[in-house]
Amino acid sequence: MLPTIGHWIDGKRVEGGVCLQDVFDPATGKAEKRVFLADESTIGAAIASAQAAYPGWRAVSPARRARVMGRLKQLLEEHAEEICALVTAEHGKVASDAMGELQRGIENVEYASYAPELLKGQHSKDAGPAIDCWSEFQPLGVTAGITPFNFPVMVPLWMWPMALACGNTFVLKPSERDPSSALLVAQLAVEAGVPAGVLNVVNGDKEAVDALLADRRVQAVSFVGSTPVAEYVYAAGCASGKRVQALGGAKNHAVVMPDANVKTVVSSMIGAAFGSCGERCMAVPLIVAVGDDVAKAVIAGLKSGIARIKVGPGIDSGNDMGPLVSRQHLEKVKGYIDQGVAEGATLLVDGREIRVPGHDEGYFLGPSLFDDVKPEMKIYREEIFGPVLGVVRVKTLREAMDLIDRHEYGNGTCIFTRDGEAARYFSDNVLAGMVGINVPLPVPVAYHSFGGWKRSLFGDLHVYGPDAVRFYTRRKTITQRWPSAGADEKAVFSFPSGR
Ligand code: NAD
Repeated sequence: MLPTIGHWIDGKRVEGGVCLQDVFDPATGKAEKRVFLADESTIGAAIASAQAAYPGWRAVSPARRARVMGRLKQLLEEHAEEICALVTAEHGKVASDAMGELQRGIENVEYASYAPELLKGQHSKDAGPAIDCWSEFQPLGVTAGITPFNFPVMVPLWMWPMALACGNTFVLKPSERDPSSALLVAQLAVEAGVPAGVLNVVNGDKEAVDALLADRRVQAVSFVGSTPVAEYVYAAGCASGKRVQALGGAKNHAVVMPDANVKTVVSSMIGAAFGSCGERCMAVPLIVAVGDDVAKAVIAGLKSGIARIKVGPGIDSGNDMGPLVSRQHLEKVKGYIDQGVAEGATLLVDGREIRVPGHDEGYFLGPSLFDDVKPEMKIYREEIFGPVLGVVRVKTLREAMDLIDRHEYGNGTCIFTRDGEAARYFSDNVLAGMVGINVPLPVPVAYHSFGGWKRSLFGDLHVYGPDAVRFYTRRKTITQRWPSAGADEKAVFSFPSGR
C-alpha cells in the first residue's frame, strides 16, 4: 500500500475526493505515493474554512501578520533540506536547483513581511475646506492560487504569503504531480502562527480548479501554468466575477550580438537552456545569433559544454540535470526532437539515447542542440519545456527583434552584447515583459514583480512584488470633513470641485 497525500483544510490534514492518483519518482519511474484529487465538496469545505477565518484574520493588525511571515521565513530556512528533498523526489530536479527555488520563495515571504509599510496608503490633508482625503488598501476576502508542477515550492510562495499579509485568506491548489512540499509548507505556516482556515491546500486536477473558479465566495484567483489553461482560467474566473491574473507559457529568445563575449554566452546558455531540464518558464530554448561567425563560435562552445553535463538522479549532488517530470512529458519532448529533424533543422547533439545506469525506467533525456532552426518550424513556435536548445541565425539586431516581437509568447528575453546602445534599444523596444542584458534568466527580485506580455500573461497585474499588494487588495478612498462648530451650512447644488 502506497502512502496517501490528502489536503490541508482548517488547520489539519484531511483526506477525500473523487479518486487517488499515483505520484511518481521521476528518477526511477516508480509510483511512490498516491494523492487524493479533491471533488467539489472538498473544495467547498476549504472555501468555507477560509471564509469563516476571514473576519478574524482581517482584524489582525498588519504588523502582527507581518511578524508571522518573519517566523515563517525562519522555519522555511530551518526545514530547507526536508522541503527540497520532497521537491527532488516528486519533481526530479537536482538538490541545488531545489534549494535555489526555495530561496527565491523565501525572498517572497520576506517581502510579505514588509506589509505594514506596503499597506500604508496615501493621505491628503486639506483637500478642501476642513476636508481630508485618503486612500487605503483593504483585503478582498477569500483568494485562491493554482500552481504548476515546475516550481512546487516557489510559485505558491509567490502568492499566498502576500495575500495573507494583506489580510486575505487563501485556498491553494498545487500541481497534483508534485503535491507534498506545499503541504509541508502549510504545516510550517501554522507553526509560524497562521490560524486554522487562513491557509488551505487542496490537491486535485481540473475538477478542483473548476470548483474554485465557479464558487462566488472566491474573490480573486492567481494562476501559473500553461497558456491554454491560463486562458481558460482567466475567462472562467472573470465570468464568475473574480479578479484574475493568469500566467502562461513561454518561448524565451536570447539574442547574441557579434561583439558578445562568447564564453559568457556559452556558460550562461548552458544553465539557462538545460538547468532544471529546461522545465522553467524563464528557460531559454532559443539562441538568435546575429551573424554566422558568432553562431559558429557559440555552437562550438555549447557542444563542448554539453559534453560535460552530468545527467542523473537529482539526489546525487554530482549531477547537473535530473529527469523530466513524467513519462508522458518525456515522450512529448522526444517527439519535438523527432519533429525538428523531420522539419529540416540540424541536430548537432541528440539527447534521446541517454542511459543512466540503474535508472532504466527513469524519465531521463540528455541535452539536445539544433542548428538552422527556422521560425516556421514547430520546435521554434511551440513551448517544448525540455532540454532542447535551438539556434536561429539572422543578420541584424532588428531581424532578431522582429522574431521576438512576432512570437506568440512574450515572457522573458535577453541580449548578450558589449554595446550599450544596442542593449538600450533592445530593452526599450522589445515586446517581452522581462528583459536581461547579459543576464540569461532575468527573473525579477522579490521587490519587483514578475510577468510576461502577449500570451504569457492574461490580466493586468504581474505576480509578487508591488503588483501583488495591488492584486490582493482593493482601494478604498475616504473623504472626510469636520466643519467647525457654527459653520454656515448651506445646500450646494453645483458638483463639488476644488475651485
Ligand atoms: P498546467 O497548465 O498543465 O497546470 C497548471 C495547473 O493547472 C495545475 O495545478 C493543474 O492541475 C491545473 N490544470 C491542468 N489542466 C487543467 C485544465 N484543463 N483545467 C483546469 N486546470 C487545469 O501546467 P504545468 O504542466 O503544471 O506547468 C508547466 C507550464 O507552466 C509551462 O507552460 C510553463 O511555461 C508554465 N509556467 C509559467 C510560469 C510563468 O510565470 N509564466 C511559471 C511556471 C510555469
